[in-house]
Amino acid sequence: MDEKNNAATPLKPTAQAVVIGGGLVGCSILYHLAKLGWTDVMLLERSELTSGSTWHAAASVHGLHDNSNISKLQYYTMKLYEELEEETGQSVGFQKNGYIYVAQTEDREHQLRIQAAKAKAFGVVFNELSMEELKEMNPLINTEGLRCAFFEPDSGYVDPSGVTYAYALGARKRGAQVHRFTPVTETVQREDGSWDVVTPRGTVHAQVVINVAGLWGREVAGLGGYELPLMTMEHQYMVTETMPEIEALGDKRIPAVSDWDGEYYMRQEGKGLLVGAYEKDGRYWAEKGTPLDFGHELLPDDLDRIMPNIMNAMTRIPDLEHTGIKKMINGPMIWTPDAAALYGPVPELENYYCCNGIIPGFSQSGGLGLMLAQWVIHGEPELDMFVWDVARFGSWADREFTKARTLDRYAHRFKIHYPYEERAAGRPARVRPLYERQKALGAAFGLNYGWEHPLWFADESWPRDEQGNVVETYGFRRQPWHEKVGEECKALRASAGLIDISNFAKYEIKGAGAADWLNAMMANRVPTVDGRSCLTPLLSKRGGVAGDFTITKLGDDHFMMFGSGMAERYHQRYFKAVPRPDTVSFESRTDALCGFNLAGPNAREIMSRLAPQEDFSNEAFRFMRSRRMTIAGCDVLVLRVSFTGDLGYEIYMKEEDQVKLYDLILESGGDLGVRPVGSRALLSLRMEKGYGSWGREYSTEYWPHESGLDGLIKMDKEFLNRDSFAELQGREARYRLVLMSVETPHDADAVGGEPIFDSKGNHVGRVTSGGYGHSVGMSLALGYVNLDQSKPGTELDVAVLGLPHKATVLEKPPFDAEGKRLRS
Ligand SMILES: Cc1cc2nc3c(=O)[nH]c(=O)nc-3n(C[C@H](O)[C@H](O)[C@H](O)COP(=O)(O)OP(=O)(O)OC[C@H]3O[C@@H](n4cnc5c(N)ncnc54)[C@H](O)[C@@H]3O)c2cc1C
Repeated sequence: MDEKNNAATPLKPTAQAVVIGGGLVGCSILYHLAKLGWTDVMLLERSELTSGSTWHAAASVHGLHDNSNISKLQYYTMKLYEELEEETGQSVGFQKNGYIYVAQTEDREHQLRIQAAKAKAFGVVFNELSMEELKEMNPLINTEGLRCAFFEPDSGYVDPSGVTYAYALGARKRGAQVHRFTPVTETVQREDGSWDVVTPRGTVHAQVVINVAGLWGREVAGLGGYELPLMTMEHQYMVTETMPEIEALGDKRIPAVSDWDGEYYMRQEGKGLLVGAYEKDGRYWAEKGTPLDFGHELLPDDLDRIMPNIMNAMTRIPDLEHTGIKKMINGPMIWTPDAAALYGPVPELENYYCCNGIIPGFSQSGGLGLMLAQWVIHGEPELDMFVWDVARFGSWADREFTKARTLDRYAHRFKIHYPYEERAAGRPARVRPLYERQKALGAAFGLNYGWEHPLWFADESWPRDEQGNVVETYGFRRQPWHEKVGEECKALRASAGLIDISNFAKYEIKGAGAADWLNAMMANRVPTVDGRSCLTPLLSKRGGVAGDFTITKLGDDHFMMFGSGMAERYHQRYFKAVPRPDTVSFESRTDALCGFNLAGPNAREIMSRLAPQEDFSNEAFRFMRSRRMTIAGCDVLVLRVSFTGDLGYEIYMKEEDQVKLYDLILESGGDLGVRPVGSRALLSLRMEKGYGSWGREYSTEYWPHESGLDGLIKMDKEFLNRDSFAELQGREARYRLVLMSVETPHDADAVGGEPIFDSKGNHVGRVTSGGYGHSVGMSLALGYVNLDQSKPGTELDVAVLGLPHKATVLEKPPFDAEGKRLRS
């Protein structure tokens, strides 16, 4: 490719961006940067292109994914492969034989039907097959035990090096440079935020650096002074000898088979089959770091380890049983704790991006390249990419956590991940002092940005594991804990509930100019009177919603701000975007402070008992006000707000006071019926009020005047990304956020992600959150729909379980539409 590559030839000393790593993904990023207009870009590869996981991959490519945005990007990738070949003349070897997905269980059938509904929404083909059609397509398949089968014709597999070289060629044709045998040995940041990228062939001064070092992602991160939660695992597949049954088919090629219940994958390779396995007994490789001299090598194979999976494959394709193995491949693959990419700008570093831990690289390479190039060049990708964002993990995702989670993910690669599912591996990672007490009270815990937090509370009869943890079941339909959550919701609405909200992000802003700085960042105006609070959106680069916060004024130049806990690291990017004067301090108090939400009609009476010296009457302590006070000798901050939509108070205290205050509240309100309530109840209660939530209804993809947050935006002042919003304001909203009631004949509620269709079957929107409104007795869904479908009373079809479910757009929320309870 670039014949001049040798140590004696110095590199061009400057570049707009340097991509570190010439695997499949690095080359795609280079290609997309050049395609989007950054042509002075350079890729540095320590060896030959494809020298990491890329060269030995099975390179299967498919479109569907549980996450709709990832599905979109996978379809984009498949389409791109064909264009790439045409554009560059380099064959990508795309064998478009299609994918057959089969279901052996009812739940797998639901999963495939959900996928089929989404495929309809995306306008891609994903057809159900009869067993006869299935047999005709793949005569080798044994259909026994199959409930249903679907066919995705546009998928298949590619030639790993063909695709990688095609990306590299496409990039070079646009002016990008590709340098092989050029290891990056240092990355040093300059004062102005740009980078010196050091190699044996000289130093390149780059505006932007991108770590796409695949198996060496950890090592390259180390050069930049940060860590990534990555762990390398062995992964094996086998290729069989020629099979007479396939040979007999002549030129006909059989589609690949996804029989996920068997934890293997299978496709035609030559005149035989390729079968890969994600075994239960997975193995780490190079735990402490990938050796720098590891190259085009494979690991010793171990057929016994994957034998249970291969046996499953033999049940499905019986001819495999009498077919010899031509070769075994055991190659290293690098995993993240949730098997999704670590992606985007590293929040702590300016002008530094990463794209690591890619498992289905061949399905995702195009999408990864496109979104990252948009992020670098335009400051934000067009789709909400939090599902891949490196900021979803913090330092709490340490080596032990990462090891436990990656192994769990590897062993359950094709497992159905149900709504509400919580995995036990690697936990607890972070707990509050109250953890043991809540556990004793029967809390089933969930993981939120590393923290354990109560989801709901079980009674003593509920099953526990050996460690005393409540055992939950999961499924697409309502589970037994649905009733327990319902009891919590009803108890809160009838008397009072105590919800642990310690996992909210909490920030303290102090010093001369604090209000100006906050006003320069947030779209609403911060309060000017002590003890007043406001809700405010934070706008993204393109004017979408990057966050929603509550800010309360504690005193002169002194504010507390509360936001989404899981977005704490994500929001750092925005907080850093507005220069903060030296006089203003900004401190995260998330770890140091805990919080409770005490809500329900008896909340006021309980507060009065806790702090008898205070006046809690509505006149003295109104909605959206805050007050610092003492409760049993503990200093607390009390805000009169509640995400439950009920009369309620948020109480923030030092971590060391958490247990004492929890006990005191339960004790003081015992005769009034207060009880512990978990976050699943909170989800149900906020749905009853139609409240949106960050990461669901509020995302960078939706405009403020679509989500209804535009009323909180003050255009008579400057704020972050104001111009983008001003431009959007001139455009008509594309969608409207609506609350719908949903009929649920199958005992299953919407959970988010379901496509919405109109009465004629046209795709008109997407559910963002769903759940059962226990206190109002109806199933609810929040979602964005086209404007002409947003009128109250409009009848729609929400694809819960992938099946049509009648839904009606509600005129007003079913609980306390006038806000009387909230403001009483
Ligand atoms: C056995 C096996 C089967 C697989 N099958 C499939 C499949 O069927 N479908 C699918 O989609 N995916 C599959 N994968 C996964 C796929 O291979 C990866 O997702 C993909 O290759 C990741 O590409 P990458 O560019 O991120 O990383 P890599 O391929 O690891 O590339 C990283 C590159 O960075 C270079 N580099 C590292 N450090 C430096 C440095 N300091 N300076 C310069 N260069 C550096 C390396 O030399 C390497 O070339 C499989 C993987 C394995 C192991």
